[in-house]
Parts: sequence; structure tokens; C-alpha cells
Amino acid sequence: MEHLTNADGLLGYYIGIYIITFLFGITIGSFLNVCIYRLPAGESLTKKNSHCMTCGAYIKWYDLIPVFSWLILRGKCRACGSKISGRYILVESLTGILFFLTFLRFDVINDGLIYPAFICIFIAGLIVIGFEDYDTQEMTIGVLLYLAIVAALARIGSTLLPSEFRGSNVSLTDGLIGMFSVSVPFLIFGFVLTPLIYSLAVSEDHKAARKLRKRLKKEKLTEKEAEKLQKALDTHIEAIKETGPVYGFGMGDVILMAAGGLMLGWKATVVAAFIAVIFGAVYAVILKAKAKHSDNEENIKAFAFGPFLVIGLVLASFFGTELMDMYIEYLTVPQIPDYYLG
Ligand SMILES: [Zn+2]
Repeated sequence: MEHLTNADGLLGYYIGIYIITFLFGITIGSFLNVCIYRLPAGESLTKKNSHCMTCGAYIKWYDLIPVFSWLILRGKCRACGSKISGRYILVESLTGILFFLTFLRFDVINDGLIYPAFICIFIAGLIVIGFEDYDTQEMTIGVLLYLAIVAALARIGSTLLPSEFRGSNVSLTDGLIGMFSVSVPFLIFGFVLTPLIYSLAVSEDHKAARKLRKRLKKEKLTEKEAEKLQKALDTHIEAIKETGPVYGFGMGDVILMAAGGLMLGWKATVVAAFIAVIFGAVYAVILKAKAKHSDNEENIKAFAFGPFLVIGLVLASFFGTELMDMYIEYLTVPQIPDYYLG
């Protein structure tokens, strides 16, 4: 009987933790929304009073309750009735769910409170970076720095206070290798290989520009014709400059993966990159198919890779190390048993 009461108490304890982490998560998510909108625009985070984007009416405190207010108002401004972006409830509920999942994955009693808390703090930064990159195709340096500092603190903490950080199975060496295991290949790929491949084969503008250059050089043209070709060439060059490497990695991706590697270790980070490449490739195929059937310039433009890296890092923070260990074991299992070797 005693045993049963204990189990009941424990269940209540866990349910309490899950509810608290979810509610805390949606509250943090509401702040992350502010970060996602204000940071890329260079606006201050401390500026008070949210207001409706359409009518400018200040939003009362009771309409700022994360998730619930949006649901009660059915996504409409109380003052003017115009639509409030679904992005707000998306970011809030996503943060709440990921915080909840973190505490589901890491057991407070066995893994301690500090490591899962650090994962949540890290995930919060990842969410901001992911949406920033999706919206603007750029990552703000402040958030990248935040991720790097959180990762460094987690690594220092887990090295100095291993019992407090016992949920983490990443050693200092794992973290330091992780800093470079993905970021360096990205750096090489993004800044050496991609521009090279791109300029050789991929871009239509590159192809057209090359053709025009050849014609300008070899064909005998009247001055008027040459001028016309030069003008066409200039527009292609301008387009090349504007789009840049379409599927390449930016410096933000490199820093993001360095911070991710320090936080999660090399195993999880390699898994994260792998997940990101698969998801990103699927998305690229979908975009390409869409672009074929549409004249909309938007569909043909470059897409940000950051959101996929963020998805990869979030998933890998839950089971990346374990997945890599399984893979290594799978590679090394068909060994010759000792007794065959005598
Ligand atoms: Zn309004």
C-alpha cells in the first residue's frame, strides 16, 4: 500500500512538472515572438506596450496571455477585428511543447534539473534563430552569441559540476570536437565549394552571362548590338550578385553549428546536420516543383537553411548522441567473437 501511495505521489509530481514547464514555455515563447520581430529590425526588446499592427491600439494585459488570448480572440484584434498572425500562437505553443518534451526526455530525478533547463534555454535561442532566418535569411549576431555563451556555460558547468549536470552525456572533449565537426565542413562547403560549383554549372544567370561574354568576345558585332549584349550581361551579373550562392551555407550557419557542437557534442551535431540536410533537400525539391508551375519570383528565390539546422539541433538534443552511438555500434557489431581468435 505504501508503495502505491509513493507511485501516486510521484505521478502527481511529474504531471506538475510537465504542466509548469509547458506554461513556462508558452510564456517564454511570447517573449521569443517579440525577439523574432524586433531583433532583425534592430528594435529594442525593452520597449514596452505591444500594439495591434493594423489599428495601433495598445493590447491590454488580459489579451497578452500566451496561447489562450489568441484562442479566446480567435486570432483577431479586440479593437479593430483585423487578423493577428498565427505566428504568435505557433511560436508560443512550439516553445511550450519543446520545453515539455525536454522535461519528458530528461528525467528531473535521474538527470537533475540543471541540464534540461540548459537545453530549454538553448532551444529558446534556436527558435529565434530559426524564425529569423526563415523570415529574413539572416541571423542576428546577438542571438548567435547567446547560443555560444549558453553552450560554453553548459560545457564548463558539466566539466566542473558533473553531478549537477548528470543529464548531459557530453564530455569537454566531445564538446570541443563538436565545435568544429560540422562548422568546419560547412565553412569549406559554403565558402569554397558551393560558389565554385554554382559558378560552374548551376545558375541560369551564370550560364547566360557566360554565353553573353563569349558572344561579346568572339562575334563581330555592331556597336549597337554590343551595347545591347553588354546591358543584358550587366543585368545577369546584378542578379548573380543579388542571389548569391543559392544552396550554400552562410556564416550564421557556421557559427550556429559551432555553438550546437559545443552544447551537444560532436555526435549529436553530426546527427543534427544529417537531419537538416535530409529535410532541407526534401524542401528544396518541393520548392523547385512549385517554382516550375508558378511565375512567382518568391518561389524561385534562395531559401534559408537555418530553420532545418534548428530542427536538426532540437531533435538531436533529445536523442542525437544515442542515435550516433547506435550507428557506431551497428557499424562495429559484426566483429569476430573472441573465442574464434583463440
Ligand atoms: Zn487592431
